[in-house]
Amino acid sequence: MGSSRMPVSLRSTLSTSKAGPKGNYLYIGADLLRNLVFVFFLIRWTRKAALQLKGRGLFGTVAEAYISIRKTLYGMFLRSPGVRNKVQAQVAETLAKLEGKLVPKGPGISRYLTLPKEGWTETQVRGELEKLGEMEHTRWEDGLVSGAVYHGGDGLIKLQADAFQKFSVSNPIHPDVFPGVRKMEAEIVAMVLSMFNAPAGAAGVTTSGGTESILMACLSARQKAYRERGVTEPEMIIPETAHAAFRKAGSYFSIKVHLVACPAPSYQVHIPSVSRLISSNTILLVGSAPNFPHGIIDNIPSLSRLALRKKRSLPLHVDCCLGSFLVPFLSRAGFPTVPFDFTVKGVTSISCDTHKYGFAPKGNSTCLYRTQALRTYQYFISPDWSGGVYASPSIAGSRPGALIASCWTSLMSQGESGYIDSCHKIVGAAKKIETAIRENPSLRDDLSVMGKPLVSVVAFTSKTLNIYDIADAMTGKGWHLNALQSPPAIHVAVTLPIVAAVDRLIGDIVATVEEEKEKERVRIVEGKGAKGGAKGDTAALYGVAGSLPNKSVVVQLAGGFLDTLYKA
Ligand SMILES: *Cc1c(COP(=O)(O)O)cnc(C)c1O
Repeated sequence: MGSSRMPVSLRSTLSTSKAGPKGNYLYIGADLLRNLVFVFFLIRWTRKAALQLKGRGLFGTVAEAYISIRKTLYGMFLRSPGVRNKVQAQVAETLAKLEGKLVPKGPGISRYLTLPKEGWTETQVRGELEKLGEMEHTRWEDGLVSGAVYHGGDGLIKLQADAFQKFSVSNPIHPDVFPGVRKMEAEIVAMVLSMFNAPAGAAGVTTSGGTESILMACLSARQKAYRERGVTEPEMIIPETAHAAFRKAGSYFSIKVHLVACPAPSYQVHIPSVSRLISSNTILLVGSAPNFPHGIIDNIPSLSRLALRKKRSLPLHVDCCLGSFLVPFLSRAGFPTVPFDFTVKGVTSISCDTHKYGFAPKGNSTCLYRTQALRTYQYFISPDWSGGVYASPSIAGSRPGALIASCWTSLMSQGESGYIDSCHKIVGAAKKIETAIRENPSLRDDLSVMGKPLVSVVAFTSKTLNIYDIADAMTGKGWHLNALQSPPAIHVAVTLPIVAAVDRLIGDIVATVEEEKEKERVRIVEGKGAKGGAKGDTAALYGVAGSLPNKSVVVQLAGGFLDTLYKA
């Protein structure tokens, strides 16, 4: 072994014993290196600790540490021998029940697990499609489902289907083959930019849905920070009520996510907390207009002031996926509104779902940017691929031109007047629900509306009753409302089908609250203690999940749920 080929560090260690002049020199070199590395890490950790303390304060830091320790200990408890088996057995039992509900089996059900040997006739296919459409389901057609089905009426659906058929083979990746699709896509973006008062030079893309729009906005902000400021440990600051897609973006693109509380009574993001968390690693601030859980619009002008505070301003994304084609028309439909679009100077990007209140078929959304440069940061370009120079604007390669055609069809056939009219109906129905909860003598003492919703979502909670029992009882009456957590609540996202059923909805909420109060009285009289008794699915899931310091069981259940969806 020639010592000349030994690594320096190893040689220096070996030579310490016989400290000749040369050995000493190497030793000092290694020592210096060690000290430098030590100082480097010391600075790094001190900086991290300082940022943590600045961002969350001493109390917040201690609270976070406490939560994290509890989570670890509870995780260890769940994995301990005896407990582990019990937990696994319960998870398996719950998932088996779920499968029983979601995956119908039995003699009457035909299952197709391999290709038919011979292709079916058209009549056979149509007959089976008919049956699939008629499978027992929650009646969205009667307006019993919160959110989920954002359509603009049967006439529009027919027109969309025709557009889909006409362009069903088209793919915007080949603009020379499908010039009409390219034109429609560019026009969709232009129309939505104009709705959000975009300045000259603004740009946008269409995407497959709100999630992709949000992913793209986060990616663009991350790339911008990396290229322009060399940020290698990107962080974004989001309201805890911001859509889960931001957490997904954090996970996909390795962006650290700082969640900021949205406290009562406004349920808007707490601006001073956002301010404290801003550091040189921050790549993006986020506000919702409105958010999914409570339908509340964050204070966008205040977020804008934070974004513009430094000489080099920060990007600010407004998630208007849900607000989509309602928020821009609020004032013209006669409702109060607040600033949320590009007229607020610090707003640099906006996501708007054409497939929500734009009434386009699912698989449609837009992401808008104040400048073309911001859009360029989301592009993917591979100049040297053996398959040719490859350029694509967003996640997908090939894309459905048919969906773009159906989206364009929706926008053109509704027009401003159509959207103002549906805004009037939808927000009007939401106000009716809000007023009932605040003023109806049977509801006002037991339910309370969260914040001041300005759009289509009304969230409510209860101090006297278990809100999840109310959700389950409403399910028993055929409704599908959305359960929320931290804090426990439920919401209704009004759609056009719900507008027609709004009086029935209010009537059923009144009846449910009275029934639940009666049950409560009986429980107390019989001495079983309040809030006891058998639990429905929502109460069982969220009642338990809410109290767990470590959600690994919920993660297992949710993963099992996804597996169940693929059981043929
Ligand atoms: C629906 C929604 C989104 C996007 O969801 P997709 O299901 O991906 O279209 C984003 N933000 C909010 C507030 C939403 O309600």
